[in-house]
Amino acid sequence: MNHHPDRFKGKVAVVTGSSRGIGKAIAIRLAAEGAYVVVNSRKQADADKAARDIAAAGGHALAVAADVSKAADVHALLAATVRKFKRLDVFVNNAGIFEMKPFLQLDEASFDRMLAVGVKGVYLCGQAAARQMIAQKTGGNIVNIASIAGLMACANAAHYGAAKAAVLSLTKTMAAELAHSRIRVNAIAPGVIDTDMVAGIVKDPSFKQTIATKAPFGIGKPEDIAAAVAYIASDDARYVTGETLVVDGGWTIF
Ligand code: NAP
Repeated sequence: MNHHPDRFKGKVAVVTGSSRGIGKAIAIRLAAEGAYVVVNSRKQADADKAARDIAAAGGHALAVAADVSKAADVHALLAATVRKFKRLDVFVNNAGIFEMKPFLQLDEASFDRMLAVGVKGVYLCGQAAARQMIAQKTGGNIVNIASIAGLMACANAAHYGAAKAAVLSLTKTMAAELAHSRIRVNAIAPGVIDTDMVAGIVKDPSFKQTIATKAPFGIGKPEDIAAAVAYIASDDARYVTGETLVVDGGWTIF
């Protein structure tokens, strides 16, 4: 995939949940385009491994373990970023969890956990990132990874769909409130992307049939989402804010 070697030159980007999957691809892409990247997951060893991979490819990365659903962890993540790189330009809210549970079997603990990571995490991180960008007086960029699950019915994962729909709402309101501080806020809504998160589902024969009819371009790659994030967080999208960019191989149009 083509990238622009200097699009994020000298910029500092945090990508939550970037030890694997879509987040790791985003971190690799932003580093390849010149950014200093902070990689994150709840596990320090996994974040360290992703940071080493980025360094091996010639990039600059710092690994910080933090749970995005905990305010103290989020503040420590921001503090570690600014301590190391002195500023923050791009914050990608990517960390997320997924779980299949029919609506009638959904339990309170599952619902609370899904919204804590998927919605509260975006609020905590987005607020901390915006406060830093405002203190710097530089403007900045926040990208929220939502899902097509937030745009339509999400059978057997109502809590996941509800969390992602909330992220789309947060994106619009954050964009409106932060525009005067020159902070753009956009969402990416991926379709089905080949990561650990969906490894179980994509093996299911009936799901393969669904993919064949609903997604003519098949299952996407994490790099497809990384390319969209690199566009929307860059100055190429300087006039775009409050938007949701759907990257789903056509799923939602069929
Ligand atoms: P993944 O492979 O399961 O990776 C999730 C990442 O998030 C891991 O690095 C994980 O590390 C981290 N994480 C989970 N909970 C966290 C927390 N509380 N705090 C910090 N990090 C946390 O998932 P993925 O498929 O790459 O998904 C990335 C994002 O894309 C998610 O928001 C997901 O909802 C969204 N998305 C995915 C698809 C898809 O088809 N794959 C489609 C639409 C949207 P630890 O577990 O070690 O913390």
